[in-house]
Amino acid sequence: MTSRELNFEGPSPILYLIATPIGNRSEMTPRALEILKDTDYIAAEDTRNSGQLMAYFGIDKPFISCHEHNEEEAGTRIVTLLQQGKKVCYMSDAGYPCLSDPGQRLVARCLDQGIKVSVTSGPSAAINALTCSGLSSTHFHFEGFLPAKESERIARLNALASNEDTLIFYESPHRIFKTLLSMAATLGDRKAVIARELTKSHEEFIRGTLAELCLLPEESLRGEMVIVIEGASKKKAVLSDTEIALALREEFDWGRTPKEAIKNVSANNGLPKNKVYEVYLENFKRD
Ligand code: SAM
Repeated sequence: MTSRELNFEGPSPILYLIATPIGNRSEMTPRALEILKDTDYIAAEDTRNSGQLMAYFGIDKPFISCHEHNEEEAGTRIVTLLQQGKKVCYMSDAGYPCLSDPGQRLVARCLDQGIKVSVTSGPSAAINALTCSGLSSTHFHFEGFLPAKESERIARLNALASNEDTLIFYESPHRIFKTLLSMAATLGDRKAVIARELTKSHEEFIRGTLAELCLLPEESLRGEMVIVIEGASKKKAVLSDTEIALALREEFDWGRTPKEAIKNVSANNGLPKNKVYEVYLENFKRD
């Protein structure tokens, strides 16, 4: 059944997700602060961490702890409060809730109960890193954290090895080298960028190939990091004989000689000249 209701009109309650800074506190938006000043409760992944952020902005509201391990029970309380007409916001430790952070089960639960959901925009480490990577941003795959167990990490990377989209990973400093080594072994020596300490005073982009990044001094990779990796190189589609013949016909329509046509079709499609010549003989040569 289709459900349709304008987010800021109508009777249903609304859960606000709040995107928070990933380092630089100035990236807390005025809109997020307005909503937080007006809320009754702030549900947070880590109430101590969010308490400090709220204190910085002079916001004093009751907190509800809602993290990966209690999302079920905390969700029940949050849904009840929203149904009673209370205003509730949810924030994770940094960036967007639900992106490699808790919140997704709470969102699904609210939607199931006819509670609307809106999000205030803000920074996300993945998007900040991709934007400055210099790698293609036309299509990208957000992977987030890889499994800690090596065999599972390698299996996941193998599954991504032929993906042509730019790949984005989150990683913690204590696992970065193991992860880079697994990446170089499975994905090959591709271009990659480590985006470190984004939005903070020590923000840094380290660009190279995966093999080069594996040789960085271990102590130089501290803080929070995103790894952005070039997608697999595009494989040229193998043309069928009929497709080669059609490509030759097009060349003849442009007035090319057989020699020129064979040379062009071969070069444009990465095909050996003798293969194109064979198709030419079969389809066009009349003695
Ligand atoms: N929800 C967050 C988001 O929207 O980006 C991500 C949370 S995830 C638990 C934390 C990971 O995000 C870190 O281990 C790191 O890979 C990445 N990250 C967060 N802040 C970062 C920063 N300032 N610079 C680089 N990476 C960061």
